[in-house]
Amino acid sequence: MTTESAFETARAQLRKAVDQLGLSENDWQTLSTPRRILEVAVPLRRDNDKVEMYKGFRVQYSTTRGPSKGGVRFHPQIDLEETIALAMLMTWKCALTNLPFGGAKGGIAVDAQTLSERENERLTRRYTSEILPIIGPERDIPAPDIGTDERNMAWMMDTYSVNAGFSVPGVVTGKPIVLGGSIGRNSATGDGVAISTREALRIRGIDPVGATVAIQGFGKVGYWAAVALEAMGMKVVAVSDVNGAVIGFKNVAELWSHFLEHKNLDAPGTDRITNSELLHLDVDVLIPAALSDAITGQTASKIKAKIVVEGANAPTTPEGDAILNQNGVLVVPDILANSGGVIVSYFEWVQDKQNYPWNAEEVKTNLNSILMKAFHEVEQMATNRKVTWREAAHMLGVARVAQAHKLRGLYP
Ligand code: GLU
Repeated sequence: MTTESAFETARAQLRKAVDQLGLSENDWQTLSTPRRILEVAVPLRRDNDKVEMYKGFRVQYSTTRGPSKGGVRFHPQIDLEETIALAMLMTWKCALTNLPFGGAKGGIAVDAQTLSERENERLTRRYTSEILPIIGPERDIPAPDIGTDERNMAWMMDTYSVNAGFSVPGVVTGKPIVLGGSIGRNSATGDGVAISTREALRIRGIDPVGATVAIQGFGKVGYWAAVALEAMGMKVVAVSDVNGAVIGFKNVAELWSHFLEHKNLDAPGTDRITNSELLHLDVDVLIPAALSDAITGQTASKIKAKIVVEGANAPTTPEGDAILNQNGVLVVPDILANSGGVIVSYFEWVQDKQNYPWNAEEVKTNLNSILMKAFHEVEQMATNRKVTWREAAHMLGVARVAQAHKLRGLYP
């Protein structure tokens, strides 16, 4: 089986949206070209004094609707093409949710798990200093992604600020709250996944209370989604991490406290299943919240869930997507389902600009209203134009960027 690369997939999705919207060849040219690409070498002195070189990237796919925005990923397999694809997805995600941002993505091809805390800090600081000329609160605002968290954001903020000569909290989002981070940013992506799940169940006529959910991934997205889903009355029946999946736990809180103590998911009462068994459980909702390409041409046909809510970025290959659509599975696409993270990043940036922190209620209310608006727009577009939810979401995002291009015009 051949699976297309994330880059080819993202371009094909854009081509389709351009065609479905009836945009011109000129529009295709402006929309399909990443605006700024920086590849840097990031030297790291390991704790044993050995020097190693890593590849780092920052791609600013679009700045048409505002400063570019997107995460920094530490993962051994990332390369430039994947980073461009993810930066492109961020562009449509920010436009779909009407945030005043373009799209970006960055990262280092490194396995963060192999680094000591000190090594991670040195690598993060050096990467920040290499991309320093192109980032900033008015230019491009990084955030956490796979393999990075609020510690990395604190180091990035500090490195930028030390070079500026004063404190610049708005240069990154997803920071610790004491450094200007937002209440609710940690759980935001998971909260958004849960809101999307609740709404998708409503559309399918399934009562959220008691609805069953399987989650692939128990990290920053999967864990917080599980907590929020349970609070909404749903039953999380299975979760997985890199070492495999479990069923039979009493509730998420108990599983999490076992995980924190023992670093595994084998809480009392649980049974092991394989990752593939998790994907094919007879549940109402399946949430892929780990890496890309989880649902493929091979795994999609056996999926029994009625709804797939994409917590991860690009978790479904085009072949997998086609099979899910054929089988009548409602797929809530990544750029909608996981947009809670960047929505609360936007709140963090606004709070930093105003030096005025919001309370938890304000964050929650505004997240819900922005996400619900996008959700209903996608639902309407999908119904009116008889397209899939993924196509509808891309059409909405791409149309807004195309319109902004037109209104700004071409310089010179
Ligand atoms: N990395 C997250 C995403 O893919 C968040 C990006 C951000 O907050 O800027 O949406």
